[in-house]
Amino acid sequence: MPKKLTWDVESIRKDFPILQRKVHNKPLVYLDSASTSQKPKQVIEAIDYYYRNYNANIHRSIHTLGEEATEKYEEAHDKVAEFINADSYQNIVFTKNTTEAINLLAYSLTAKLKKGDEIVISEMEHHSNFVPWQQLAKQRDLKLKFIKISKEGLLDAGSINKNITKKTKIVSITHVSNVLGTINPVKDIAKIAHENGALMVADGAQSVPHMPVDVKHLDVDFYAFSGHKMLGPTGIGVLYGKRKLLEEMQPFLYGGEMIREVKFDDTKFNDLPWKFEAGTMNIVEGIGLGAAIDYLNNIGMEQIQKRDTELVDYAMKKLKEIKDITIYGPEERGAVVSFNIKGVHAHDVSQILDSEGVAIRAGHHCCMPLMSVLGVPATARASFYLYNTEGEIDVLINGIHKVKKVFGV
Ligand code: PMP
Repeated sequence: MPKKLTWDVESIRKDFPILQRKVHNKPLVYLDSASTSQKPKQVIEAIDYYYRNYNANIHRSIHTLGEEATEKYEEAHDKVAEFINADSYQNIVFTKNTTEAINLLAYSLTAKLKKGDEIVISEMEHHSNFVPWQQLAKQRDLKLKFIKISKEGLLDAGSINKNITKKTKIVSITHVSNVLGTINPVKDIAKIAHENGALMVADGAQSVPHMPVDVKHLDVDFYAFSGHKMLGPTGIGVLYGKRKLLEEMQPFLYGGEMIREVKFDDTKFNDLPWKFEAGTMNIVEGIGLGAAIDYLNNIGMEQIQKRDTELVDYAMKKLKEIKDITIYGPEERGAVVSFNIKGVHAHDVSQILDSEGVAIRAGHHCCMPLMSVLGVPATARASFYLYNTEGEIDVLINGIHKVKKVFGV
């Protein structure tokens, strides 16, 4: 038996003001962190402090407020770089979210692609890592191929080897599935991609918040994630890229701040990463992400991963004890459990649970192609994070018994 963690969840919970609120007169049980996480007071206060004390535009104002804001915004890039073991802030481009990071890539890599080239993704991708490549393929006459998933919800090894060939130019795979919880072997897939001369992109939206991530160890060329799922504010995301590749790429957006010199007939672009950060950026959101990373580092990502695993294992065990429930995905997984109750639509499950104060997500989870592979229109999904408790999972389980009673299942 692995040693149990010593984990002071009560003091963690005190940092999250929203967890004190009630929903329908019941204590809030927030099991939807895969959609967006709650925010600790340290992040809320960092945002508040910025607006009250040094709100100014960055990279342009030669005054104290401007210099303070610039310093904090740049420091947030350093914190992100260190957090994922990138070489430097120059590898870290701030975007709006994961979606924008992948769109940036799809636009900026266009110059490297020609008719007939192939892009490989998988059947379990979020629309964010699906639609940009699908549309790029349509516009540029490229072929989009899909790695199949096995019955257990893993990427099929044979399908990985069959699909990635010398014709492949880009492989883009989610590190952790937001529906199945599957933790994909990104490092192994990157190796296969590189052996075939392709670039490796990973969608880290569900991994960076929950486990230590080392982009150099994974040897990915690009890695995308969102601040709002890792205790940070909305409106801030990250694209990590290898320096040489970012240098070669065309900017995604043109305008102010991304330039070094503009003449009537030409423009020289700014250094990395600012070449990809056009216009007035999400300054306080970036600073808030820096505060979120401080918070996560303080606890430790290895500890967080262990705790998430304890929670998800407990939830799986309890769910399996209930009759007429189908759970999707493998045993070993990230902090999400998708399930269906026989004969009940996931939306009804969610609505009844809401009346008990329990917030889960129900729907296609921005994975419509995966839903078609699973043969269902929707699933209910509970997802966990460092502020959740076994007691909250018990409330979820009691809520599911209520759903079954209401529907006579
Ligand atoms: N990829 C995965 C695996 C996700 O779970 C999500 C968010 N649900 C995204 C991408 C998109 O993130 P965002 O909406 O922040 O762009």
